Amino acid sequence: MTLVCAPVVATSVEEMEQDMAKAKSLGADLVELRLDFLHHFQPDIDLPRLISNRPLPVLVTFRPNWEGGQYQGDDSTRFSALRSAIELGAEYVDIELKVAEKFISTIPDNRPDNFKLIVSSHNYEFTPSSDELSDLVARIQAAGADIVKIATKAIDICDVARMFQVMVHCHAPIIGLVMSERGLMSRILAPKYGGYLTFGKLDAEKESAPGQPTITELLDIYNFRQITADTKVLGLIANPVKQSKSPILHNKCFKAVGFNGVYLPLLTDDLGKFLDTYLSPDYVGFSCSLPHKVTAVRRCNIVHPVALSIGAVNTLIRRPYDGKLVGFNTDYIGSISAIEDGIKGSSSKGDAVSPLAGRLVVVVGAGGAGKAVAFGAREKGARVVVANRTYERAVTLAKELGGHALRLAELATFHPEEGMILANATSLGMYPNVDGTPIPKEALRFYNLVFDAVYAPKVTRLLREAQESGVSTVSGVEMFVRQAMGQFERFTGMDAPESLMREIAMKYT
Ligand code: NAP
Repeated sequence: MTLVCAPVVATSVEEMEQDMAKAKSLGADLVELRLDFLHHFQPDIDLPRLISNRPLPVLVTFRPNWEGGQYQGDDSTRFSALRSAIELGAEYVDIELKVAEKFISTIPDNRPDNFKLIVSSHNYEFTPSSDELSDLVARIQAAGADIVKIATKAIDICDVARMFQVMVHCHAPIIGLVMSERGLMSRILAPKYGGYLTFGKLDAEKESAPGQPTITELLDIYNFRQITADTKVLGLIANPVKQSKSPILHNKCFKAVGFNGVYLPLLTDDLGKFLDTYLSPDYVGFSCSLPHKVTAVRRCNIVHPVALSIGAVNTLIRRPYDGKLVGFNTDYIGSISAIEDGIKGSSSKGDAVSPLAGRLVVVVGAGGAGKAVAFGAREKGARVVVANRTYERAVTLAKELGGHALRLAELATFHPEEGMILANATSLGMYPNVDGTPIPKEALRFYNLVFDAVYAPKVTRLLREAQESGVSTVSGVEMFVRQAMGQFERFTGMDAPESLMREIAMKYT
């Protein structure tokens, strides 16, 4: 079992005691006492107090500044404190590889049975090659480590693969972590690759190294205790990615249906490199968002025809029998089915002819979402008009669809017929610019239904004004839930737990 270790980086003994208690209440298995963070540290008084009152096993670390820590003094004082920690019963002590032999020569051979020495190496600049990492593991073992610890920095998410490779081949217990947001998967997938422990911080401010998730995120979002070597890996490939609610949504739903998978935020710079690196059959599927949706079309072996015409893939599935990547676009399914259900008295389920057939749909926006809604509407037999801030993009998209293009300003008077549908697929009105709207309120009466792809806030200015004008509305949350349901079903081969998804989307979007 991979342990969850809470780094305790308080500056006073009192606060360290409180943090240890908090770590226990949050579900950590051990705490790392970072003695180098303490102001006015008095080893003879503080160590017995901290160690004898520990509510969890402790790892004692006294990191010098030459290895990225806070301690600026000499090694003999540091070694003496670490020796005291061992004598007082600390379960683990961490010593840096550079001084490991020197330190080990000062401690007795007959250490307590439950004591383990971690010998660590930190690289805050980059992740070395696989050969260099293997060599490092060998040197750490030769130095006398009970547990090997290597922490490096991810410049690119693909750097993490080298750490995983070294971890699975290591015969000794190993902690392998890759720092920074691009290395997050190394921390969450530690159980899959046999990591001895991972660090989970107490809260957002209390990290001891960049990229640590909180204990609550590890346990409640990523279902860390359920991750094993067999766990399937999924995730959202995007940049930026940390604002996404998809990890919460998919992981909670995986847990609810008993699917052995974990869904990660995957901060990715180069989609092709990512897909060429993470080739294992265990990496079964990915969501794909900005800026990779268009590149994804080229990187898939097979692309669903509608995704091909949209020119964007937001879902990649690895076919289990031949490993080929198949690309889909669930944004179009999500938006179109939400609009269909929103058209009064209709349901997209089971009807042979779509309620969109023959309707005039005005799509505002010519980006990824705009294309998904426009091609989806055309697929269902609607006539499509595209309006966009950059008029040339509206013209290009309209040509591809066989429709007309408008300038945004023309929306104020555009009213060729009754019963039109308006779909906003721009970011106008999205948090934090919640006052934005693509069309004057007075023009909304020309429409039967207004859909907004924006889901933060749930009720945008556009939707509010449409409701005030007596027009039916469909929220972006509907699209979000439905595109996620489409992904979930492709990821797991199971029915999506729709009501749970709605509940989570309402809570977190
Ligand atoms: P995108 O590819 O970057 O396209 C952005 C679109 O918004 C372009 O048409 C752009 O016009 C327009 N735009 C941006 N700022 C504008 C402004 N100040 N005034 C007028 N137009 C502006 O983004 P996307 O992926 O299509 O996403 C668009 C929106 O849909 C976002 O709010 C996103 O959150 C939402 N979305 C929702 C879901 C869901 O599940 N509900 C799914 C996907 C997207 P130009 O061409 O002139 O730049």
